[in-house]
Amino acid sequence: MRWQGREGSGNVEDRRGSRVGGVGLPLGGGIGGIVLVLLLSAVTGQNPLDLIGALGGGTGGGVQVDPSGSAPPADDPQAQFVSVVLKDTEDTFGQIFQQAGGAYQPPALVLFSDATQSACGLGQAAMGPFYCPGDQKVYIDLSFFRDLDERFGAPGDFAQAYVVAHEVGHHIQTLTGLSEKVNAARQRGDEVAANQLSVRQELQADCYAGVWGNHAAARGLLETGDVEEGLRAAAAIGDDRLQKQSQGRVVPESFTHGSSEQRVLWLRRGLESGQLDACNTFSAR
Ligand SMILES: [Zn+2]
Repeated sequence: MRWQGREGSGNVEDRRGSRVGGVGLPLGGGIGGIVLVLLLSAVTGQNPLDLIGALGGGTGGGVQVDPSGSAPPADDPQAQFVSVVLKDTEDTFGQIFQQAGGAYQPPALVLFSDATQSACGLGQAAMGPFYCPGDQKVYIDLSFFRDLDERFGAPGDFAQAYVVAHEVGHHIQTLTGLSEKVNAARQRGDEVAANQLSVRQELQADCYAGVWGNHAAARGLLETGDVEEGLRAAAAIGDDRLQKQSQGRVVPESFTHGSSEQRVLWLRRGLESGQLDACNTFSAR
């Protein structure tokens, strides 16, 4: 991608090098709190007592800066890259919403290391990037990009951009009210039905990522091989391939994100059409 020297987004919140503190933790105190602390310390490699201190120190709340000063500089290339991609999604979806007579409210993007608080509970690096509708923020630990390359065999900047744009796609689903409808249906349905809804929701986010890619290409951001990088990433994180890797077999009923083939298909549909309307995964068979 040709991203260097481009303007970044003003909506990036850099929490790297901070640790989880004070209020708003999902499990509260007591046994739950202790379990959480042990989990946290397993994740962060920190001394549990240290973390209990951080959790118990109720005055400040929020996030406390790690005194060891392990935060990378805010302008390192990877953070800058994510910021430029986010800005480009803001331009793309801003334009699309405006043309439809609406106004796009962009999400914030939180960079974190190891663990951080979100309105959806404790965000952890091991979960991979995620979007939280409760605070309308995308959460990314940049170490995921190394996994994408080394564990999933999907290197390249456009593969990373696809991941960011996919999470922004979930934000659009919140803005359009789709997420709320899916959640309501999920609460009524059985597990298999809920998984099917989840697959359609994820495939739509893939398609929305493709819509962004289409507009990025029109603005001259894409280079030869970029689209292939994105498609390779979509295939790499299909449920079937991940299941085969982790448990040696594939259980389609338990899919929550879609097969590699489906993910590639919907990303491609967005890339080719450049239109949100092309992403109606809920009416597709
Ligand atoms: Zn997703």
